[in-house]
Amino acid sequence: MIDIDEIILISSRVEQRASQSFNLTCWKSRQPRDDTTYRLKFTDPKVCKSFLLTCCPHEILSSTRMDLGECPKVHDLALRADYEQATKTKDYYYDIDAMEHLQSFITDCDRRTESAKKRLAETQEELSAEVAAKANKVHDLAEQIGKKLARAESLGADGMVEESMKLMEEVEDLRKRKASAEQEYRNSMPASSYQQQKLRVCEVCSAYLGIHDNDRRLADHFGGKLHLGFIKIREKLDELKKTVESRREKRREERELERNARFGEIADYDVTR
Ligand SMILES: [Zn+2]
Ligand SMILES: [Zn+2]
Repeated sequence: MIDIDEIILISSRVEQRASQSFNLTCWKSRQPRDDTTYRLKFTDPKVCKSFLLTCCPHEILSSTRMDLGECPKVHDLALRADYEQATKTKDYYYDIDAMEHLQSFITDCDRRTESAKKRLAETQEELSAEVAAKANKVHDLAEQIGKKLARAESLGADGMVEESMKLMEEVEDLRKRKASAEQEYRNSMPASSYQQQKLRVCEVCSAYLGIHDNDRRLADHFGGKLHLGFIKIREKLDELKKTVESRREKRREERELERNARFGEIADYDVTR
């Protein structure tokens, strides 16, 4: 049985590490830049191409519970500006590299989600199919409440009061439905079993969600930097995947043309000798 306190303890350790690495980053960025040293170009292989395309997971998930620490490649806003300027006149095909980077990151995360799910299945008391269906209904409603509440709060913060109020009405309705789903779930088992926290793994960010989590905690999860960061990464990956095949093909053709042109130059040189 996984202890919820244990998970909280682990999380707080990760958070500690994250804030330490954050401090380190702040300290580094305060160091004066030595202009006499070799200044990297954005085309240097040491530069993070995903950062140039504003989708590096190290940046998006920084100072969240899943802070990955500093990216092994260089992040530099000045280089991003150089790159953005340069792409106006030349295609660098960095979207292909970024797609490969995000794909391998998400594949790792999904593998972790799967093993977390497996671990929960092994350690949590098994529910009968009927009770599991009831528990899932509670989880699904809780998820909808959390998402809507987070959305309502962000709309409210942006001054869109009417839209926010409309969502809050929907939240009220979902709360009623959740209360009756909880009642049904509670009636299907002895009180002692009911009190045990049933965890499930968030498919988007692989965090643990509990069946007894309150609305506040759910809204903090679904509106939090970690979960939203993962949504951003996944959406970017989907977008890049759509064009990657045709982009690879185009890059291959362009490289071939360049090679032929170079070969032509050499041939010309030989003739004139
Ligand atoms: Zn990076
Ligand atoms: Zn999540």
